[in-house]
Amino acid sequence: MEIRRLKLSGFKSFVDATELRIEPGLTGIVGPNGCGKSNLLEAIRWVMGESSAKSMRGGGMEDVIFAGTASRARRDFAEVSLLAIQEQGDLFSSAPVGADGELEVMRRIERGAGSAYRANGQDVRAKDVALIFADAATGPHSPALVSQGKIAAVIAARPQERRAMLEEAAGIAGLHVRRRDAEQKLRATEANLARLDEVLADMD
Ligand code: ATP
Repeated sequence: MEIRRLKLSGFKSFVDATELRIEPGLTGIVGPNGCGKSNLLEAIRWVMGESSAKSMRGGGMEDVIFAGTASRARRDFAEVSLLAIQEQGDLFSSAPVGADGELEVMRRIERGAGSAYRANGQDVRAKDVALIFADAATGPHSPALVSQGKIAAVIAARPQERRAMLEEAAGIAGLHVRRRDAEQKLRATEANLARLDEVLADMD
């Protein structure tokens, strides 16, 4: 998956609608302290489904919504959308990709109403978004999204964490999600069969 564009509105310090084009060759973002560099990376992780407020440097998920300043009122919602292009090797089986291989994923949060997601204009669940990005070998915890202080964490990672990174790079993280789903369905079916046996035994 190649990320082409990021749009933000009401997200953290990006109170006004902001568009960031990610052109080939972009290797880093520079700017003065506090200008919002880390917020951009967090916006990418958030739209990919990040569910931990702590890892977004907040106390609760609504802390991603612009909180207001002395001169501007706070906002009641935050919205981030990410435009990606399908690359060879991406599975993307669960995504409503356009004929041009484009996929726009949008996440919106409203105060008191939680998050909602859309993929190419269709309402989707958080679970679907997780699968879309896992199939494209990325996601909110992708080692490719390196925030400040994370380089040391990658070096010090435990073997299981390294394995998870390698599995993600190999694009099989989505298969693990599907396996967990299938195992859950299997357990539910086994419970139903056991119940059916009991009912049949009672009828004999
Ligand atoms: P540094 O180089 O110091 O790490 P940075 O460019 O990475 O800085 P960020 O950490 O992305 O900057 O942005 C911090 C700014 O975002 C702070 O000014 C903070 O007040 C603002 N900010 C964070 N969350 C919100 C919010 N919910 N509402 C308004 N502003 C916010």
